[in-house]
Amino acid sequence: MSTLRFKMVEAAFGKKPLDAAEFTGKHNVENSVNSPAGISAGDARPSEYFAEHVFNREKMFHYLPAKVYEKLINVIDTGTTLDRSIADEVAAGMKKWAIEMGATHYTHWFAPLTEGTAEKHDSFIEHDGKGGLMEEFTGKLLVQQEPDASSFPNGGIRNTFEARGYSAWDPSSPAFIVDDTLCIPTIFIAYTGEALDYKAPLLKALRAVDKAASEVCRYFDPDVKKVYAYLGWEQEYFLVDEGLYAARPDLLLTGRTLMGHDSAKNQQLEDHYFGAIPTRVAAFMKDLEIEALKLGIPVKTRHNEVAPNQFELAPIFEECNLANDHNMLIMSLMRKIARNHGFRVLLHEKPFKGVNGSGKHNNWSLGTDTGIQLMSPGKDFNGNLRFITFIVNTLMAVYRHNGLLKASIISASNAHRLGANEAPPAIISSFLGTQISAVLKHIEESDPESLQSLSGKTGIKLDIPQIPEILIDNTDRNRTSPFAFTGNRFEFRAVGSEANCASAMIVLNSAIAEQLTEFKLAVDKKISEGEDKESAILSVIKEYIKICAPIHFDGNGYSEEWKAEAARRGLDCETSVPLIYDNYLTENSADMFEKTGVMTRKELEARNEVKWETYTKKIQIESRVLGDLAMNHIIPVATAYQSSLIENVCNMHKIFPAEKAEMLSSKNMELIEAIARHTAFIKEHVDSMIEARKVANKIETEREKAIAYHDTIVPALEEIRYHIDKLELIVDDRMWPLPKYRELLFIR
Ligand code: ADP
Ligand code: MG
Repeated sequence: MSTLRFKMVEAAFGKKPLDAAEFTGKHNVENSVNSPAGISAGDARPSEYFAEHVFNREKMFHYLPAKVYEKLINVIDTGTTLDRSIADEVAAGMKKWAIEMGATHYTHWFAPLTEGTAEKHDSFIEHDGKGGLMEEFTGKLLVQQEPDASSFPNGGIRNTFEARGYSAWDPSSPAFIVDDTLCIPTIFIAYTGEALDYKAPLLKALRAVDKAASEVCRYFDPDVKKVYAYLGWEQEYFLVDEGLYAARPDLLLTGRTLMGHDSAKNQQLEDHYFGAIPTRVAAFMKDLEIEALKLGIPVKTRHNEVAPNQFELAPIFEECNLANDHNMLIMSLMRKIARNHGFRVLLHEKPFKGVNGSGKHNNWSLGTDTGIQLMSPGKDFNGNLRFITFIVNTLMAVYRHNGLLKASIISASNAHRLGANEAPPAIISSFLGTQISAVLKHIEESDPESLQSLSGKTGIKLDIPQIPEILIDNTDRNRTSPFAFTGNRFEFRAVGSEANCASAMIVLNSAIAEQLTEFKLAVDKKISEGEDKESAILSVIKEYIKICAPIHFDGNGYSEEWKAEAARRGLDCETSVPLIYDNYLTENSADMFEKTGVMTRKELEARNEVKWETYTKKIQIESRVLGDLAMNHIIPVATAYQSSLIENVCNMHKIFPAEKAEMLSSKNMELIEAIARHTAFIKEHVDSMIEARKVANKIETEREKAIAYHDTIVPALEEIRYHIDKLELIVDDRMWPLPKYRELLFIR
């Protein structure tokens, strides 16, 4: 009997957390994590300790000479390059602050093309030349480093003996301290200049959208100098008891359960969403929020999500690059702080079959340095024309690059969420709501003459229906839409919970930049032909509304009819992950990235190699883990149980006459047969899955290999699981080796 599982369940449900080593016997899971430096929040108010661990403007002002401070702020505000001559002084100020805060080490903190962040810690110490040590941190070390980058994914941009890549400081994202380490946000690029990370292209995309949007904005407000892209992410996640987690090799190694029958109760009563937060979870959230606030992350919202043990956290939205760094940071904080509370956080998009998965809605909008929210209706005609301009151009960009946007969010793990009748469907479309839809319809149907005659003269009388400042019907959200307009922003809901939001934000912002640039050209052309500005803008918009109509869909994104309709409309309906990645290399995409200066074809090709390779590796790991669990955990236990049934049947025959024994044993005989059928199926399919892997592994190109993994291994995982889950229903509960869904999914 599996007393071990019972001990673990017991420990998880209220008693002391088990030491991982106690039940694995061999794993040496690190259980204790130092609490981050200086948890001192106590009863203090968030406003008192907000950004305590961040080298923000206030600290810059305090720790830098006035001239240096001014120059640095200028670099941050205008995006110009840092003058190397001030780097030493910035580094000195930063070091002074960091050491006062108890930091002993520093690191360049970057996001390579894996999921997390990378950091290599160096201490501040240097020889002082007199036989002792001193703390040292120079401008050179601050601005640029050359981590041995050969082991990061690079898609062949660098081969290993030409391994130099370098990380370079991004002054627009402030340095911060985690534990004893000063973290300096950096981009990570190859020696030849190609991006090997997410931040470098994101910064380029943000620059491109700033330029293009500012020019369009100046039609409406000549004072606009800069346009910011904003991002407000909503991070969904699961919590699971640490002891139970460690007893599930699939969770441990793949981040999701590869087997597990539905719990009798899961989310069907809809009693978890917005429900009372369990006390232990609330304690975790509180700690997390305090640490996040100290790091300058303005966390605001927390609640239970739909699935049991599923929760959400959201900050106040911020400038996109900073918001993105904050999301990366909070994911690592969550992992760490969860362990202090005896939990593991699951960021995988679909840790449990049969209950909702986790996403990371990316709320996106544009705003000017003059304080205008470009995705919000204006107060007057000018404001409304501007609003419609940005809405329609966004739709155009999303329409023209709907396949690419899907490629930007798809992954081996997010594929479980997409198209699985939970937000979002595997087809990108945009919800606008009845009010905006009516306005667009009106503009589309009005004849150009009337647009022209009504425009200009009085300004106000132009034929745009009144748009209320608050768009009421957008509070009635369409939860099935992957890209929904929600009153003052678009909400890109297809992004995965585990993803680096930058992937989606690079594509979205570059596509918008390309679109706005073309819009400007089209409008300027009409103006140069004698049309006045307003009617030129309106007539281009009118054309656009027609062209991008296929992307607009306010109906049920989960319905079968929509799939057929979307295909008719020419939207990308592909569901195979490796094939979806092809969208990065189409002429349409490569051209867009090149025109906006965000990525070259070479970079796109290299990054796609990484995507395909990562996909293959993830499925390969899942396949190995499932094979191991099936053969070494499940079949032995099922067979042992089957043997006990056989023994029982034999004993029946010993004590009863044959006919009666047969009658009394008939149900057990059925079980014995069922177990035999399931175990035979599992064994055969594990063998054939291994064969299929061997075939796939011989394929030379990453794309074809990923396709083989998708086509042959992914279905095998599902088939094998089906039979394991059936066995779970048959085998004696005391023998079952792995924690079950009903145990994993309910924190007490
Ligand atoms: P809901 O779950 O209803 O979508 P939440 O309050 O959970 O709403 O999250 C909304 C997110 O959208 C928050 O991060 C919020 O800061 C962000 N947000 C609000 N307005 C904007 C905006 N104009 N641009 C970008 N993000 C925004
Ligand atoms: Mg939302």
